[in-house]
Amino acid sequence: MAQNSSEKSALPRRIDARKLVQRGQELDGIVPHDGLPRLTASTESIEGDVTVSLAFARDLQRHQVATGHLELTVNLLCQRCLQPVSEVIEADIALGFVWSEEQGNALPKSLDPVIQEGDELDLYQVLEDEILLNLPMVAYHDWDCVAHEAFQSQGEEPEAEEQRENPFKVLEQLKGSSNKS
Ligand SMILES: [Zn+2]
Repeated sequence: MAQNSSEKSALPRRIDARKLVQRGQELDGIVPHDGLPRLTASTESIEGDVTVSLAFARDLQRHQVATGHLELTVNLLCQRCLQPVSEVIEADIALGFVWSEEQGNALPKSLDPVIQEGDELDLYQVLEDEILLNLPMVAYHDWDCVAHEAFQSQGEEPEAEEQRENPFKVLEQLKGSSNKS
């Protein structure tokens, strides 16, 4: 069931993981894009908000966990043509909540340790970490965004050529217009 993200409400920013685990809480909502300053700084822009679903529980080893999924669309710079390219980021989340670094080191590798210092933690920051881990190192358009001749052998007439202005013609036009003024 695809739901429009605008119909969902924002997740709480400050949470007490211990309480949510006790209640077996399920969260289904969005993280507003302006709540993610580090992600904003590492992308061209964020399109819309982040859709998140999270279920808090104890797993079979009695770890306090939250598992779920997040999805968002970001604009990155295409490394071929240096124009924005939109990328859908999807990630499965498996967080293990702990209250010290030692506890974190003892968690199985399948859980990302999240240390809650004190009574609350910043859920947006935790989710931002997950998104940053899942950002592609480089991005490219999935079509030939740079003129064909850069990659193809000569002889074939590239279609893009027709749309490009002849630089000499442009110069002529500039000269013509400056004469008038
Ligand atoms: Zn490109």
